[in-house]
Amino acid sequence: MYLMLAIACLFFGLFLLFPGYFVGWGLIVPAVCLVIIGIASLGARYYILRRYARRVEEFRKKAAIRVRCKYCGALNPDTAMRCDRCGATL
Ligand SMILES: [Zn+2]
Repeated sequence: MYLMLAIACLFFGLFLLFPGYFVGWGLIVPAVCLVIIGIASLGARYYILRRYARRVEEFRKKAAIRVRCKYCGALNPDTAMRCDRCGATL
């Protein structure tokens, strides 16, 4: 949804740029603003996704270090002394 808004901003701005060429600065200025907003939000989205991807990676690494309970098969954090599900000592 956010991506669509950014792309809509970008395209609407570019679309306004053409009549703006004939009409004058009154239309060019808001059109350029829209294009800048669109590009900025696309860039921000890319940056956020990259940061988020790194976090997901870290989370996955953490999740990978888990101990499986030999009684019930539940996955527990490696720091846990007892199983979360059945309470057996790991
Ligand atoms: Zn268990």
